[in-house]
Amino acid sequence: MNQSNISNALKDAGLEILTCLQCGTCSGSCPSGRYTGMVTRKIIRKARVGEDILRDPDLWMCTTCYTCQERCPREIKIADAILTIRTIAVHEGIMLPAHRRVSELVIEHGHAVPINDAVKEKRKKLGMETLPETVHKYPEALADVQTLLKSCGFDKLAGSEI
Ligand code: SF4
Ligand code: SF4
Repeated sequence: MNQSNISNALKDAGLEILTCLQCGTCSGSCPSGRYTGMVTRKIIRKARVGEDILRDPDLWMCTTCYTCQERCPREIKIADAILTIRTIAVHEGIMLPAHRRVSELVIEHGHAVPINDAVKEKRKKLGMETLPETVHKYPEALADVQTLLKSCGFDKLAGSEI
C-alpha cells in the first residue's frame, strides 16, 4: 500500500492526521516512549509525509493507553490512527514475530497465554480459579473459536490457515 492509500484509509476511518502541528504533546505524554525509542509525534509525521510507517518497529511499541489522544490540542485520534495503521500493516503481511506467535497460540489453543503448572499455581495464590473462563476451562469451545477466526480470515492473516 502506498502513502496516499494510508492517508485515504485513515480519512475513510474518520481519522484526520493532517491537522497535526507537530507540537509533541503526544510524545511528551506517552508512557511507552519513556521506556522505548518510540516517538508518537514522529509516527504521525511519517504517516503524513509518506515515510514507510508500515515497517517502522515503533508502530508496535504503543500500548494503546490513549493518553496522547486525550491530550492532543488538535483532537487527533492518535491511538485510533496507530491501530488503523497496524491493521493495514497486518493486511500487508507485516507483523512482528512475537505477535505472529501470539496469533498462532490463539488459533491453535483459543487462548493467547499458555497455562502451565506455574501459572496455575500463581492463579491459586491470587485466589483465582486455576483455569480462566476460556477454552482452557471449556475445551469444547475451541472449535467455535476456530470457526470465528476462520470466518473473519484471521488465520490467513496470521499465516496459520485452519
Ligand atoms: S499532540 Fe496532536 S498535534 Fe501535537 S504532535 Fe501529537 S498528534 Fe500532532
Ligand atoms: S496511546 Fe500509544 S502512543 Fe498514545 S500515549 Fe499511549 S502508548 Fe503512547
